[in-house]
Amino acid sequence: MGLFSGKKGMILGVANDYSIAWSITEKLAAEGAELGFTHLPGEKMERRVRKAIDPIGPKLLVPCDVQKDEDIAAAFAKAKETFGTLDFVLHSIAFAPIEDLKAPFVRASRDGFKLAMDISVYSLVSVARHAAELMPNGGSIVTMTYYGGEKVVPGYNLMGVCKAALDASVKYLAYDLGPKNIRVNAVSAGPVKTLAASAVGDFDKLSGLYEAIAPMQRNVTREEVGSSGMFLLSDLARGISGEILHVDCGYHAMGSPGHAFEKALEQQAAD
Ligand code: NAP
Repeated sequence: MGLFSGKKGMILGVANDYSIAWSITEKLAAEGAELGFTHLPGEKMERRVRKAIDPIGPKLLVPCDVQKDEDIAAAFAKAKETFGTLDFVLHSIAFAPIEDLKAPFVRASRDGFKLAMDISVYSLVSVARHAAELMPNGGSIVTMTYYGGEKVVPGYNLMGVCKAALDASVKYLAYDLGPKNIRVNAVSAGPVKTLAASAVGDFDKLSGLYEAIAPMQRNVTREEVGSSGMFLLSDLARGISGEILHVDCGYHAMGSPGHAFEKALEQQAAD
């Protein structure tokens, strides 16, 4: 018997087998979950997602552009047909136009801001609303966030402001859905090499920052992020809601460069 035997859930945000949603999917599947997935509309997108998820025998794969409420409604209607009810939903989606993402935040365009907020933040609200209708016995909803929404991480720019709004949305949704025994949480992951991460900037530089500054002196692995996502979706986390769980080797706890600073001082003394 796995942790997820008899449990059914929808996963939004597998692009390929580098996606964080895939790392979490692998853990859920290994624990016996029955899973449905969405893909961005289009044959090419469908093929790409199908290639990633085929090994685990998905119960459902449906198109869904989260900018469209009718797509979200149709995806959850299909989930109802397939599963009847749901126990959990993973929302692992973000987008900002590349020119707005790369620019200093002060130069973010109005249209870029609206689009990034719509896809990266409002989508969680709409997904949670539709998911809740299929969770008569309670459930767990998890989204993916990043520390750049709490503090300035140079280069994260507009997406940092989106993540701040996403973090607040997690807490308000947790409040609204709590009486229905539906938990809403976020995993705040350290840098993981994915399609979306490649748009944000130099992955090796960001990962190096974690090796230098995080208490554990390394960056997180995708497998560790997968386990933590699975944990929050599971009954093991049944008392946890409105939480932003940092899975970043302790980086978020630092208020100074710590070990990196000590090493710099030692180097200075040796020179
Ligand atoms: P990813 O594999 O590129 O996943 C992003 C997903 O969002 C893709 O499946 C993408 O679909 C989907 N998406 C974008 N616009 C959409 C729309 N309008 N409708 C439906 N789906 C849409 O990258 P990832 O790094 O795993 O990102 C997943 C989440 O983790 C994001 O919220 C990201 O901010 C967060 N996160 C990532 C890191 C990291 O270092 N990678 C760290 C912390 C948090 P297509 O690819 O088909 O466009």
